Amino acid sequence: MASVSLINVRKQYGNGPEIIKGVDLEVKDGEFMVFVGPSGCGKSTMMRMIAGLEDITSGQLLIGGQIANAIPPAKRSVAMVFQSYALYPHMTVAQNMGFSLKMAGLKAGEIKMQVHATAQILQMTDLLDRKPSALSGGQRQRVAIGRAIVRKPGVFLFDEPLSNLDASLRVQMRLELTRLHQRLGSTLIYVTHDQTEAMTMGDRITVFNKGHIEQVGKPMELYNKPANHFVARFIGSPCMNILNVQCSRTGDVCDLNLPEQAQALRLAAPACWAGMPLENIASMGWRPEHLELLEHDDASGLTLPGHIEFIERLGDVSIVHVSTGKNAHAPLITVKLFTGQQLFNEKNQVWLKLDPTHAHLFDQGGQRLPGS
Ligand code: ADP
Repeated sequence: MASVSLINVRKQYGNGPEIIKGVDLEVKDGEFMVFVGPSGCGKSTMMRMIAGLEDITSGQLLIGGQIANAIPPAKRSVAMVFQSYALYPHMTVAQNMGFSLKMAGLKAGEIKMQVHATAQILQMTDLLDRKPSALSGGQRQRVAIGRAIVRKPGVFLFDEPLSNLDASLRVQMRLELTRLHQRLGSTLIYVTHDQTEAMTMGDRITVFNKGHIEQVGKPMELYNKPANHFVARFIGSPCMNILNVQCSRTGDVCDLNLPEQAQALRLAAPACWAGMPLENIASMGWRPEHLELLEHDDASGLTLPGHIEFIERLGDVSIVHVSTGKNAHAPLITVKLFTGQQLFNEKNQVWLKLDPTHAHLFDQGGQRLPGS
C-alpha cells in the first residue's frame, strides 16, 4: 500500500497549451479516490503521469513518500486497468493474469498459486483455461482487474474501466470494485466522467476541470456544499438549477430580485443565513429534488408562477421542466418529483416554491458564499 502526493504538477506537450495546470493533491494510503470531470479535462493524463506512461513537465510526484518522477513504470508499484481490456488474445485467462509475474522471473509453481488466489477473489476459477474470445465483456474486465491484483501493487489505477460495459453490468461491477477495494485495502485511483460512479464508489472525489482541480471532498460534501457553480452543476442528476439573484436585506426581510424571472421574491431571512454577506450573492442554486411544485400560490412569498413545458416520467421519479422566465429564452427549471408526490401534466399552470433553507448561495465569481 502507498500514498500518492502531487505537488504543483504540470503537463505540456511540446509548445502546446498546458494540459495540467499545477495540481496539488494528497491521496491517502488505502484510500479509494475518484478523479471525475468532463471529457478532455486531463484526468487520464494525470493518471498516466502517476503510472509513468507520461513524463511530468514540472512538479513532483511522490508514491509512498518517495519521489517517483523518474522511476520507470514497472518499478513504481502501480498497476493500471484500462477501458480497453488489452488482454493477449492467444493466451488463456491464467496466462494473461500470470504474465507480469512470469516477466518478473517468478517460478511456475508460485505463479500458479498467485493466479489461483486472485481468481478466487474475483470468483473466476472456472474461467482460467479459457481464451479472452470466449469471455463476455464483464468477464474480460475481471481478467484485466485480476492481472492488476496479482502484481500486489501499492496503488491501483483504473482508467474508465466500466465504460465498455452495458448499464446493468456497470452497476454490478461498481459494487464488485467497491467490495474488492474493501477486501484488498489498497490505494485506488479511479478515473471516470460519470458522476454516479464517482458518488457511489469513492471515499473522496477530485473534480477536475480544464486541467485544474475544482474541489476535493467526500461525495456528500460535494453534493451538500459544492465549492462553485462548476461542481454544483457537475455533481447531482439532473443538475442544479442556478438563478441570477440580487439580494437586499432590511432587518429580517430579504428581497430577492431575479432578473430573468417574472417577479421578485420577498422572504424572511432563514436562520442559516445569519452573519452572511448576503449583499454579495449573485446567484442561487436549488437542486431539482429540493424544489416544490404547487397547484395554487400559497402566498408564502417564495413562489414563482410558471407552466410545465414537459415531463420525463421515469417510473420512480418524474423530471418536470418548468418555464418561469420573463421570456422564452430563460432556462427552464428542473424539478424532481418522487412517486407518491402530486403529479402534474404538461401545460399545467403551477407555482414553483423556492425554499431558502435549501438554496446554495454563490458570489459574483460563481464561488460558494463564505460561511454558507
Ligand atoms: P480526459 O481523460 O479528462 O478525457 P485527457 O487527459 O485524455 O482528458 O486529455 C486532456 C487534454 O490533453 C485534451 O485536450 C487532449 O486533447 C490533450 N492530449 C492528450 N494526449 C495528448 C498528446 N499526446 N498530445 C497532445 N495533446 C494531448
